[in-house]
Amino acid sequence: MEAKRIAVVGGGVAGMTAAFRLAESGYHVDLFEAAPALGGRTKSFYDGEVDEWVDNGPHAMVGAYHATLKLLKDVDALQYVNWQSSLTLSLWDQQRGFFDLKAASWLPVNVALIWAVYRLPQHDLSSVKAMLRLAVTMTNRNEEQTVQQWMDEIKAPKRLVEDMLEVLCLGVMNEPMQTANAKTFALVLATSFSSHQHAKMGWFNKPLSQALVAPLADKLRVLAVNIKLRTSIRSLDALNHDAVVLAMPAYARNRLLGIKEDVATQVITNIHLWFEDSIKLPNMMQGMLGTYGQWLFDVSAMMKQQGGLQHLCVIISADMSEKSQGELIDLVLFDIEKMLGLSLPKPKKVRFIREKRATVLVRNQDKVALPNHVFDACESPQSGELPATIELAVMSGEDAAMQVCHWI
Ligand SMILES: Cc1cc2nc3c(=O)[nH]c(=O)nc-3n(C[C@H](O)[C@H](O)[C@H](O)COP(=O)(O)OP(=O)(O)OC[C@H]3O[C@@H](n4cnc5c(N)ncnc54)[C@H](O)[C@@H]3O)c2cc1C
Repeated sequence: MEAKRIAVVGGGVAGMTAAFRLAESGYHVDLFEAAPALGGRTKSFYDGEVDEWVDNGPHAMVGAYHATLKLLKDVDALQYVNWQSSLTLSLWDQQRGFFDLKAASWLPVNVALIWAVYRLPQHDLSSVKAMLRLAVTMTNRNEEQTVQQWMDEIKAPKRLVEDMLEVLCLGVMNEPMQTANAKTFALVLATSFSSHQHAKMGWFNKPLSQALVAPLADKLRVLAVNIKLRTSIRSLDALNHDAVVLAMPAYARNRLLGIKEDVATQVITNIHLWFEDSIKLPNMMQGMLGTYGQWLFDVSAMMKQQGGLQHLCVIISADMSEKSQGELIDLVLFDIEKMLGLSLPKPKKVRFIREKRATVLVRNQDKVALPNHVFDACESPQSGELPATIELAVMSGEDAAMQVCHWI
């Protein structure tokens, strides 16, 4: 019997995952991607001036990314991820200098975390009590509550919020606590802090184009997926397939379906800096408190690059400043100087990447009505679901592929 033909629209992580799983199941898959290359938001580009493949923005993961890890294993790419041995958040603020939130691996993870918080400079039993209140109120958040309202409810001390909860909220949800959804944040905390294995942070040791996109694309080719780049699908009528998976950004899906409703998205700004002289950083992933950027990544160290220019990247999550590029670059350079207590040499190169629609925000929205043969893998997280991450993209792709298999 002739294999059924499935169209996948969008060649980001969600679309590539759906195409991979469908092709594995024996379907004939056409994958349509509007851009000249696969990858979507996990894209890298070659910068000849620094002779380096540069990610749009460095992507971090946690051990609780089960679906992503399974996918990376299936496409033989697990070697491109490095892991902390146990959770450590290296932080800095102007008043206290450098300090670590480090979960001792010999204690059960929740005890280790509370103990780690207690040992942070200028924390006391009030932080411990708030952590306990946080733990016992995790499971009954209502759909509309914001993280800020939850923190007020448990009377979280300002220090605890500033040192940990605000940083985590911005990092994983890319949204300030004042509007971020508490039910989703609770899910992230509950899954990440359910074991040491889940809590630790991971990072790619190669640019995303090599670590994630190429291994997936290689498998797609082996499975004879027909990849059509530079092909933007503007109408479902253009697709004469037995089933269709939509895996494009939600605003593009709405445009395709003629839905007027807007999709709430949030910005991430990445400032990439290259230096000729080596800059000694105490940590590869440095959390910065009370500064413009929240994280400083030593990309050269993450990628184990030897010699050449040193590549640093400052991440500004939920960047709502109205500052110009030049102002923001000056501000983050000033922050790094303040943190390291030295004056930096002039960077050889600076690249400012502001991704306006970096993530779709978690909102309570009705699911989009679709024709029977069309399945949705677009990023549109609901309250109580995972936020917009690689993990959500992989899960959405897998889920849509499974639905197609059941439907056909
Ligand atoms: C700067 C930045 C940093 C991030 N950091 C992290 C992180 O640290 N950890 C983490 O887990 N996540 C992170 N994310 C989020 C993560 O990258 C995304 O959630 C994920 O990649 C979304 O994948 P997707 O496949 O759903 O969408 P996309 O990657 O947006 O893919 C959709 C694809 O559809 C294509 N398309 C659109 N319209 C059409 C059309 N009409 N026809 C055909 N193709 C179309 C687009 O070109 C695109 O390639 C970050 C994102 C950004 C931007």
